[in-house]
Amino acid sequence: MILILLGPPGAGKGTIAQALVKTYSIVQISTGDILRGEVKKGSPVGKEAAGYMNAGKLVPDSIIMDCIGIAVQSKECANGFILDGFPRTIPQADALKDLMRNFNLKLNAVINLEVPEDVLLRRLTSRRTCSNTACQAIYNVHTKPTKKEGVCDACGSPVIQRDDETVDVIKQRLVTYKDKTEPLIKYYEKDPLFHTISGLDAAEVMKELGKIL
Ligand code: AMP
Repeated sequence: MILILLGPPGAGKGTIAQALVKTYSIVQISTGDILRGEVKKGSPVGKEAAGYMNAGKLVPDSIIMDCIGIAVQSKECANGFILDGFPRTIPQADALKDLMRNFNLKLNAVINLEVPEDVLLRRLTSRRTCSNTACQAIYNVHTKPTKKEGVCDACGSPVIQRDDETVDVIKQRLVTYKDKTEPLIKYYEKDPLFHTISGLDAAEVMKELGKIL
């Protein structure tokens, strides 16, 4: 099964992708997680990407396509994958079409998670993420706190506020979303595989996905 999860920052793509991983035994490909891993390693890609990420801007398409090309060819992806946070621009969506054709892969659904902007802002400023790149568990200081403050329930690593989750950067990320990523809704909406779901409640999203997938 191959899925695309679309939606603004804070729509819950990561949380839903993690739930789908468990339900369908497929892997999550999050370009954000891949980039944060590169930043943590201090690799040349990470050094270039960090400037864009911390300014709430998109990392250039060429870097993203290199990351995706490597990820989809990995043997973990043989059973299927969820694209979380990719594509984010029309050129990325075009490049994905070519990539799928070249590897003879078939898309099962494009899911667009819809959440009002005030909810997005509230969610993003109160979100905390496990600093362990192999874990990436997501918490919320109000609705899903860690059992022990600042410590990941799943792996025991420190839980942090991401550098790009300050109010100013979040506002810029939402502007970037409207400008560059929202046009993807028009790009996919005529496709019968495209579905828009309210992302307000994760359990409801999973229920809706159960009917679609
Ligand atoms: P995310 O964790 O998906 O919200 O991504 C965090 C940041 O990584 C974004 O704000 C972008 O700077 C960068 N990023 C992640 N995925 C992409 C993508 N597909 N295209 C461009 N930049 C991306």
